[in-house]
Amino acid sequence: MIYSKPKFKEKYSNFINGKFVPPIGGEYFENTSPIDNSLIAKYPRSQKEDVELALDAANAAKEAWGNTSATERSTLLYKVADIIEEHLEEFALVETCDNGKPIRETLNADIPLAIDHWRYFAACIRSEEGSASELDANTLSMNIKEPLGVIAQIIPWNFPLLMLSWKLPPALVTGNCVILKPAEQTPSSATLLMEKIADVFPPGVVNIIHGFGPEAGKPLASSSRVDKVAFTGETTTGQLIMQYASKNLNPVTMELGGKSPNVFFNSVMDEDDAFLDKAIEGAVLFAFNQGEVCTCPSRLLVQEGIYDAFMERVIARTNAIIQGNPYDVNTMLGAQASNDQYEKIQAYLKIGKEEGAKVLAGGEANKLSGNLAEGFYIKPTILEGHNKMRVFQEEIFGPVVCVTKFKDEAEAIAIANDTLYGLGAGVWTRDAHQLYQIPRAIKAGRVWVNCYHAYPAHAPFGGYKKSGFGRENHVMMLNYYRQTKNMLISYDKNKLGFF
Ligand code: NAD
Repeated sequence: MIYSKPKFKEKYSNFINGKFVPPIGGEYFENTSPIDNSLIAKYPRSQKEDVELALDAANAAKEAWGNTSATERSTLLYKVADIIEEHLEEFALVETCDNGKPIRETLNADIPLAIDHWRYFAACIRSEEGSASELDANTLSMNIKEPLGVIAQIIPWNFPLLMLSWKLPPALVTGNCVILKPAEQTPSSATLLMEKIADVFPPGVVNIIHGFGPEAGKPLASSSRVDKVAFTGETTTGQLIMQYASKNLNPVTMELGGKSPNVFFNSVMDEDDAFLDKAIEGAVLFAFNQGEVCTCPSRLLVQEGIYDAFMERVIARTNAIIQGNPYDVNTMLGAQASNDQYEKIQAYLKIGKEEGAKVLAGGEANKLSGNLAEGFYIKPTILEGHNKMRVFQEEIFGPVVCVTKFKDEAEAIAIANDTLYGLGAGVWTRDAHQLYQIPRAIKAGRVWVNCYHAYPAHAPFGGYKKSGFGRENHVMMLNYYRQTKNMLISYDKNKLGFF
C-alpha cells in the first residue's frame, strides 16, 4: 500500500494564548518535504516581538494553571492522548511528509510512542505521595512541589511529535505554562496538534512559536520572563542556549548529540538462530530513522573472533534494506530530513574515504527515480576503519555506521569510551558477567543490553559528557519542572527565647 502526500493549507500561524496568530512582522518561511523537495506550506518566521506575545500569554496564565489540581491537569493530558490516537494516521502522514521517515515508522513507532508519553505523565502525577515528616513532637516539616512557572522548550527535527511529547506532558502536568519552538525543518505535526487540541488547555498554557533558532529560539531562551529552558539539539547549540539562560540564572536541561558504540562480543554467534538474527538486526539499526537519531549506534565494535562471519551477515542485511518512497508501507529507509543533512552526510562519506576508511556497503547518495529524484536519499553505509578517524568521532546523523574490531573486554571498553559523547550504547553478549560489567563500564546515560532503540516512557533517558545533562521520561522528570518549598510548621506555644 502506498499513501499519498497529505493536504496542507497555504500557510499557518503561531499558536498563542489559545488562538492562531500570524507573525507580527508578516514574514513566513517555506517548508518543503525532503521526500521530493515539494512545497508543504508557509510557516511564521517569528521574531522577538512574537516571542514576547507568547511570554505575555504564558505569564498571564501561569498563576491560575499552577493552582489547578493534579487531577484536572492529568485529565487534560489523557484527552490530548485520545485526540492524537483518534487521528493517528493523519499525524503519521504529516510526520512522514515533513521529515522523510517511512510511514511504517511513524504509524507504528513515532506516533504511538508520543501518545504513550502523554498517558504516562497523566498517570504518574497522581501516583505521587506527599512528603511530611515530624521533626519533633512540636514540629512538622512538609515539602510542597510547586511549578517553576513558564518553560521555554526548543526541539529538533528528527522526531518532531515525539520530541514534543517528551517535553510538553511533564511540564504541563506539573502546572507550568509552556512556549515551545519546533525545529524550522519540521513545523507541521506541532501545528496539526494545536489545531486538534486548541480548546483543551486554558489560553496561554501551551504556546507554539515557529521560526529559526537565532531569530525566535534565542529571544525565547534569553528571556528573563521564562523560568527554565529545556533544549534538545546539537551540542554546540546547547552551549549557546546555556549562555543565554545563564544571564537569568535559569536552570536548563540539555539533550544533545551522540556517537554511540554498539558492542558485539564473540558469544553472540554461539546462540540459536533467533538470538543471532536479533543481534544482526541490532547492528543494522544504525539505519533506523535514516540514522537521524541522537542515539544512533553509529560506531560498531565487533570482537575479532566473530568479525568476518558476523560482518558478512551485517553487510548482507544492510544491502537488503528497502529504500524508497516513504509513503510506501514496505519502505524501510526514507529520505534524510533536509538538503543540509543530505549534503553534510555526503561530505562525511568523502572525509571517511579520504581518511582511508573502507566502504563495505553503500557509501553514496541513492538517486531514486520519478519525483523522488528531487528527494534526499543516502544508501545505508558501512565504513570500516579505526576509532581515531573523524567519521568515528563526529556525529554524522545519517545512515552511516563505522565499524572496527576489538580483542578483549578492556579494549572494547576503551574504544567505547573514547568519544566526547555519552548518550547511548549497546552491548550484545550471552555472557552473564559481560552483560552486567560492560554496561557498567561504559560512560553513557542509556546502555541497551541485547537490544537497542527502545524508548519506553518509564525509563529515564539522557546524556553523560557532551551529550548533556538532566533526564527525559520516567517519573523523575517531574522534578525537572518543579521546585520544592519546605514548610516548617511549629505547634509549640513557647518562644525561641533569644529576644
Ligand atoms: P539544532 O541544535 O540545530 O536545532 C535544535 C533546535 O534549536 C531547533 O529548533 C533550532 O531552531 C534551535 N536553535 C538553533 N540555533 C539556536 C539558537 N542560537 N538559539 C536558540 N535556538 C536555536 O539541532 P538539530 O539539527 O535540529 O537536531 C539534531 C541534533 O539534535 C543532533 O545533534 C542530535 O543528536 C540531537 N538530538 C538529541 C536528542 C537527545 O535526546 N539527546 C534527541 C534528538 C536529537
